[in-house]
Amino acid sequence: MPGKPKYYLTTPIYYTNGLPHIGHTYSTIVCDTIRRYKRMRGYDVVMTTGTDEHGVNVERSAKKAGVPESEFVAKMAAEWRALWEELGVQGDEFIRTTDLKHAHTVQWLFKQCRDNGFVYPGHYTGQYCIYDNAYVDVKPGENCPDCGRPTETVTEANFYFKLSAFQKPLLDWYAKHPDFIQPEARRNEVLSFVEGGLRDLSITRTSVRWGIPVPGEEPHVLYVWFDALTAYLSAVGGPQYEKTGFWPANLHLVGKEIIRFHAVYWPAFLMAAGLPLPKQIWAHGWLLMDSAKMSKSLGNVVRPRPIVHVLGMDALRYYLLRETVFGQDGNFSYEALVQRYNSDLANGLGNLASRAAAMMEKNSGGKIPQPAAFQPQDTVLATRAQEVIGEVLEQYDQLGFSLALEEIWSLIAATDKYLTTEHPWSLTDSEADQQRRATILWTTAEVLRIVTALTYPVLPESATRVWSLLGQPDQPGSFPLDGLRWGQLAPGTLLGKSQALFPRIEKAEAIERMESMEKEAQKQPSPVTVPAPPSTPAAGGAAAAAAPAAAEKIGIEDFAKVEMRVGQIKTAERIVGADKLLKLTVDIGTEIRQICAGIAQYYEPEKLIGRKVAVVVNLAPRKLRGVESNGMIIAATVGPEGRPVLAGFPDEDVEIGARLK
Ligand SMILES: [Zn+2]
Repeated sequence: MPGKPKYYLTTPIYYTNGLPHIGHTYSTIVCDTIRRYKRMRGYDVVMTTGTDEHGVNVERSAKKAGVPESEFVAKMAAEWRALWEELGVQGDEFIRTTDLKHAHTVQWLFKQCRDNGFVYPGHYTGQYCIYDNAYVDVKPGENCPDCGRPTETVTEANFYFKLSAFQKPLLDWYAKHPDFIQPEARRNEVLSFVEGGLRDLSITRTSVRWGIPVPGEEPHVLYVWFDALTAYLSAVGGPQYEKTGFWPANLHLVGKEIIRFHAVYWPAFLMAAGLPLPKQIWAHGWLLMDSAKMSKSLGNVVRPRPIVHVLGMDALRYYLLRETVFGQDGNFSYEALVQRYNSDLANGLGNLASRAAAMMEKNSGGKIPQPAAFQPQDTVLATRAQEVIGEVLEQYDQLGFSLALEEIWSLIAATDKYLTTEHPWSLTDSEADQQRRATILWTTAEVLRIVTALTYPVLPESATRVWSLLGQPDQPGSFPLDGLRWGQLAPGTLLGKSQALFPRIEKAEAIERMESMEKEAQKQPSPVTVPAPPSTPAAGGAAAAAAPAAAEKIGIEDFAKVEMRVGQIKTAERIVGADKLLKLTVDIGTEIRQICAGIAQYYEPEKLIGRKVAVVVNLAPRKLRGVESNGMIIAATVGPEGRPVLAGFPDEDVEIGARLK
């Protein structure tokens, strides 16, 4: 794409020894939001995320699980990837540090550093924390100062990186590029660390087998930071980075606990190799649970799936970006999450959209009305909307998500107030009143269009729905934000189908559901924590079903939409890399369908063949772990671990294809 400026950003490369919690989710959602925003500002964007798959920890976990390391990390990487998809994250590159192209890049970088005289052989003895993958500055027998767990004394032959040579070059770089490290507090922290002097860094190990070998220097393998950080480069061409044009990165987004590695080690490696340095490193704060850092050992980890399952992915995205000032620590609570959902999404955006749609449906024949003469109160709102556009773009540019959303929601509130004051619903059918009503409704719809374009980076799923409700072409993500102005909404545009956006949800019940799913997940030892919610739509799917599953009553006509039939299982097999799923082919009378079912841990595939089951046959096809599933098998969920029990017809010989009512 000639002419488009390039923008490259990265999430941390997550360690595969565990599964994503809300902290990882936060980093990734922020990156996805920036990615969508930059696209709307006309950039050619690449976003990289991925998994860091080497090291002692993985070696041990794989051994414990009784599988080869490669199998263990493949499973874990698949889990991470699947979760990001459920959260609507549009990563362009998913790099695994076990990828061949990554190994080549790391080996190449090592050689560059060595050829330039910044790598030398030596020995190292120190206390090593295997949980944090770092040598720590404590005496033998003492615990890790970061995580409090036991350390190990390690002595080994290794290669050192001459980090000490980079104290001055780094300080010069920071001085010349004051925005290199953000926010200010982190910059000061890094500055004083580097000013205190830098010790050379051991970058290989001989005691570890599971890593990228140093060619000609076996059994040395490159470890942890030299390996993991280089993933940012290997994702966009590695040694051939000039061909892709995406290096140096514009932004490495990280959690504050890994700022030192990104702002000191990584630029030093790149300087040593003679490569360009990234433009900016942004360290965000932690999400605290009752003021404590979430960690597996404290047992206070919150995972994203239960939230997505109960409230939808947009609710989680909105909460994370709205509630925390970016860069500072934030508090996570289910209470505040549901509160935000109900007040800002259900009563705010959702309510405005459905009111506007209903009034236009009734009064302007399902079209955007033709406004007549504008009154001062209309112009005041228009001026405010135009101001909000400018302020929001400015905030997004500075990663001020919370303030950007606050601005947008102040416009929603102003519009609610405008509607209350103008009360279009009480106007008569006189010519003058009809014209006035059309003007009010057009003005409201125009605010809604602007709000939708501005919220899309944060709320991709719901913004897409409002956009199509307003009859706008394509999707909001392809709308150029630089050209967003008041007054672009064309009268006469046919409205799209009205859909419920954020059904109100009862707080106590929602919290109960999320917490009990979370508890279930904590109990599961397997990499698969909570089964993926079947209604979770993929990235930005416009036609996706409303995610929140509030316990509302439905009418018989709603039930009748679900077509269930008796099916007979013809074949059943396990899916490599998905230990909960079985791939089935099922005869539903009119055809044979391929359906995936999350029952692999409880049903032997061979024993299922010939069995009659209840199948939802009119479910939109979807992919589970890369395998297409065209329908759903009905099962009860039993016991605390959620064991699936297939619904069936043991007493009667029912005909294949018979409809369930
Ligand atoms: Zn530790």
